[in-house]
Amino acid sequence: MAHVKLHIPGPIEVSDKTLRAFRSPMIGHRGQGFKDLCAKIQPQLQQLLYTKQLVYLSTSSAWGVMEGAIRNLVSKKVLNCMCGAFSDKWLDVSKRCGKEAEALQVPWGSPIRGAEVDKKLATGQFDALTLIHNETSTGVMSPLAEIAALKKKYPDVLFIVDAVSSLSAVPIKFDELSIDVLLAGTQKAFAMPPGLAVFACSPAALAKAATMKDRGYYFDFVEFQKNAEQNMTPSTPSIGHVYALESKLEDMLTEGLEARYARHRKTNQMTRDWAAKHGFTLYPEKGFESVTLTCISNGARPGGRIVDVPKLQKLVKDQGFLIDGGYGKIKGTTFRISNMGDETEATMSQLYAALDNAMKQL
Ligand SMILES: *Cc1c(COP(=O)(O)O)cnc(C)c1O
Repeated sequence: MAHVKLHIPGPIEVSDKTLRAFRSPMIGHRGQGFKDLCAKIQPQLQQLLYTKQLVYLSTSSAWGVMEGAIRNLVSKKVLNCMCGAFSDKWLDVSKRCGKEAEALQVPWGSPIRGAEVDKKLATGQFDALTLIHNETSTGVMSPLAEIAALKKKYPDVLFIVDAVSSLSAVPIKFDELSIDVLLAGTQKAFAMPPGLAVFACSPAALAKAATMKDRGYYFDFVEFQKNAEQNMTPSTPSIGHVYALESKLEDMLTEGLEARYARHRKTNQMTRDWAAKHGFTLYPEKGFESVTLTCISNGARPGGRIVDVPKLQKLVKDQGFLIDGGYGKIKGTTFRISNMGDETEATMSQLYAALDNAMKQL
């Protein structure tokens, strides 16, 4: 059967080059070959996260590290900043880890703003907060710099940031922002197969983790640091993923990070233009739209065109492309198109042609 190209916001299309690297012959994960591989990619990962801290490799999806951050860092109470399906879920995860947790909930489609976070942190109840930079379910990008600026006012609160669908598509300067944990799964903006997450911790986060008695084993951040110092991982990693990451980092640095960011802005603007051309409006609050995916309103917001989304999806799929029909409680009243990863103006234009075709048949 012919491959249907993924334009859903994760997992996304993986290049043949990355897949070839992914299927490299296995090596031992305690041998010099693996250490050399890790040593080679470490400075590149540090360049990507703009950090001097070691960047860790976790064989898990993003949620492994997201749960791990809660277990490693929260002893008093965590503030879960919530504006969509993934960020909302983090409150549930905090509670399932047995932690005191409180929601800062804003309506879906709105971003998290610094002033609201400030008000909550001013109560002095919290020792950590969770934030999703790019809420993939609603297509909203929250103003990370504005929120991270609060770190100066609340130095004892650990800032845990999920950049699963934004890291490598927009600059996120870990050290400069003084955030404490930054994490991403590789199947979204990195355009790699699912199953690996990367993350970094501040010295304060590592110091806190060292005091925590119930941080578990698999996601023990202290173990990640100890092993990374030796160019290793705590347990047997998905070695294929590390090869794929080596290949992907080579792609990113060959293109140049600035060019990569500009390409995402451009292809995202093209999707917004496509939506406007067909009379659609966007779901996110104006000014806070993601640049890696577009969440298009299909009745979720007043005004704008409404179409039969499952039919649109089928008509596009018949032409070889998969788009998303909306996530969670906005399934059907929105739909989403991803421009993450390796997409160019040329490849996105093929998708718009298929979408144009489909629209004529609706
Ligand atoms: C997809 C996604 C997740 C969950 O990632 P998994 O890899 O499925 O664990 C978390 N946060 C964001 C922003 C996502 O887009």
